[in-house]
Amino acid sequence: MPRRKFADEEVVMGRWPGSVLYYEVQVTSYDDRAHLYTVKYKDGTELQLKESDMRSMSSFRFRKSSSSSGSPSRRSGSRSRSGSRSRSPGRPAKHRRRSSSQSREPKNEKNMIGEPNLIPLKLNENNTHQFNGEPDITEVNYSSHNILERQRIESERARERILERYSLHPRKEEKRTEEMYSEERILEKPKPVVKVCMKTEELEFGGKIGAFLMIFLLPGTVFYLLLMCTQKDPSVLNFPPSLPALESLWETRVFGVFLLWFFLQALFYLLPIGKLVEGTPLLNGMRLEYRINGFYAFILTAATVGISLYFEMEFSYIYDHFLQFAVCATVFSVVLSIYLYARSLRASEQELSPGGNSGNIFYDFFMGRELNPRIRNFDLKYFCELRPGLIGWVVINLAMLLTEMKVQHLNMPSLSMILVNSFQLLYVVDALWNEEAILTTMDIIHDGFGFMLAFGDLVWVPFLYSLQAFYLVKHPNELSWLSASAIVALNILGYCIFRGANSQKNIFRRNPKDPKVAYLKVIPTATGKNLLVSGWWGLVRHPNYLGDIIMALAWSLPCGINHILPYFYVIYFTGLLIHREARDERQCKKKYGLAWEKYCQRVPYRIFPYIY
Ligand code: NDP
Repeated sequence: MPRRKFADEEVVMGRWPGSVLYYEVQVTSYDDRAHLYTVKYKDGTELQLKESDMRSMSSFRFRKSSSSSGSPSRRSGSRSRSGSRSRSPGRPAKHRRRSSSQSREPKNEKNMIGEPNLIPLKLNENNTHQFNGEPDITEVNYSSHNILERQRIESERARERILERYSLHPRKEEKRTEEMYSEERILEKPKPVVKVCMKTEELEFGGKIGAFLMIFLLPGTVFYLLLMCTQKDPSVLNFPPSLPALESLWETRVFGVFLLWFFLQALFYLLPIGKLVEGTPLLNGMRLEYRINGFYAFILTAATVGISLYFEMEFSYIYDHFLQFAVCATVFSVVLSIYLYARSLRASEQELSPGGNSGNIFYDFFMGRELNPRIRNFDLKYFCELRPGLIGWVVINLAMLLTEMKVQHLNMPSLSMILVNSFQLLYVVDALWNEEAILTTMDIIHDGFGFMLAFGDLVWVPFLYSLQAFYLVKHPNELSWLSASAIVALNILGYCIFRGANSQKNIFRRNPKDPKVAYLKVIPTATGKNLLVSGWWGLVRHPNYLGDIIMALAWSLPCGINHILPYFYVIYFTGLLIHREARDERQCKKKYGLAWEKYCQRVPYRIFPYIY
C-alpha cells in the first residue's frame, strides 16, 4: 500500500488545478482508495489534489512584496487578476516559458521545471473596478500593464478549465469552455471528481428536538389558523375554538377529490410538452434532466376549471370542506414522507442531501434524507414544489371568491377579494413562467425531500397562503378606491424588486456576459462564480426577499386592520425569509470564503436597507 507523504492538518503548498501557481493549503483528509488529498485553501475552498500537485513548504522560497504587510487584507493579488501563468491550452509551451522568463524575478532553481513560480505581484487596486474578494495569494511584479493583462487572460482561461473539470459552470459557460479547450481535452482527459455526501453535523431548526417538535407544530398551526378563520370573531386573543369531532374531519369523498387533483397534476407533469433542461451538477458530477412545463400545466388546469364551471360544478364545496381537505393533504404528506424516508435508506451516499444526513431518524425524516428522489424520470420533489400545491392555491382562491359571492349575495366579488386573488395569481403565474429558476434554489440544490418540503408544498402553501381569501368569505372588508390604489402600488413595487432581483441573478448565473448584466460590478470568487455587487444585489444581500415581503404585506392589507389573522402570512414569511437568509449566508460563507466576507462589507444590509 503506498504511503501518504503529507499528514492531516499539515500546511503545504498545493497547486491550483490547471495552473502552475501554488497556494498555501492545509491537508484535511486523505482518500486511501483514490489517493487524493482533500485540502483547504485559505479562503475556505476545498479541493482534492494528487500528491504530485503538492509540495512541502520548505521547497519554496518566498519573497515579500515591499508594500505587503503580510496581512492578507493588505495584499492585492488575485487569482484572476494576477495572471496565473497557467498552462494555457491554446499556447505552445515555449511561449509559456518565455512569459515566465519575462518576469524580473530571479528564478528559483527548485521550481524550474514548470512547477511553482511564486513571484510577487503588486497590483494597483485603483486600476480595477472589480472588488477583489479573492483569497490571499502569490503576488507577481510585472511592471508592464500588457503583461499583466495577458497574465490575467491566461489566468481566466486556466480558471475556466478548472471549473469545467469540477463541473462548476452554468451550462452555457461550459459549452463555451468546451469549444475553447477541445484540443487540450484529447491530450488530457479530466477525471470526474466524485464526492460523497458528508454526515450532517450542523443541525438546523433547533436540532433533533426542534425538528421532532416541528412535525407536530406545523400541522397544529395550520389547523389552529383555519379553525380561527371560521370563527365569527377571529381575534387571536380569544380562546382557541374546540376541536371538531375526529370523524367529522375525515371524508373519503374529499380524499378522493384530493387524489384526483394530485394525479391530474402528475399527468400534466408527464406530458411530453415543454423543454428539457439540466439541473446544477450533483455530487457525482452528473446533472438531472427536468421537464419545464409548469406553465402548460397551469393553462391545462385553467381549461379544466373553466369546463367545470361551465358544467356548474360547485366550487364552494372546497370552502365547505376546507378543513377536511387540509386533513387529507396532511395525511397524504405524512404517508409520502414515510415513503421518502424508507426509500432513502436504499439510496447511495451520493444521492443523500447535505442537510438531512444526520443519522437521527426524526431529524432526517423532517429535513429529507434523499436529495432528488425519483421514480424513473418522475422527480417527486420538483413536481411537488410547483404543481399540486402552488396551482392548488390559485384554485382555492378562486373557490373562495365564488363562495364569497354566494355567501354575501354579491353580483361580483368584493374589491378586497379581487385584489387578493389578482396579486396571488400574478405570483403563481410568475413562478410557473420562470420555472427554470427553481433549479438553482436552495430547495432543489440543498434540501432533501422529507416532511418539511412535502408538508410545506402540499399543505402549508395551498391552505395557509390562501388564508386571506378564506378570511374574506366571512369577514368582508370595504375598501376605498384610494386605499386599493395604494395597495396596488405597494404590490407593484414589491413585484418589481422581487422580479428585478431574481431575473438579474438568474441572467447573471446563466451568462455573466449578457448585455443586461454585463455592466454590473462583481466580486470574483475562488470557485470561478462571481458575486454581483451592484444593481439590486448591491442594495441589500437579498433584494428578492425584500420584494417578496413587500408583496406579502400588500396581500394582507385588503383584509383591513381589524384582526391580525390575515397578517399571519406576512409575519410568518418575514420570519421564514430571515431564517432562510441566515441559512443561505452560512452556505455562501462556506462556498465563497473571503469573497463572501468582502461582499458583506460592501453590502452590509441583509434584507431591509439601513435596518437589517
Ligand atoms: P436566492 O434566489 O436568493 O438564492 C440564493 C443564492 O443566490 C445564493 O446561495 C448564491 O448562490 C446566490 N447569490 C447570493 N448572493 C449573490 C450575489 N450577490 N450575486 C450572485 N449570486 C448571489 O434564494 P432562494 O432560493 O431562497 O429564493 C428564491 C426566491 O424564492 C426568492 O425570491 C424568495 O423570496 C422566494 N421564496 C419564496 C418562498 C415562498 O414560500 N413564497 C419560500 C422561499 C423562497 P450561488 O452563488 O451558488 O448561485
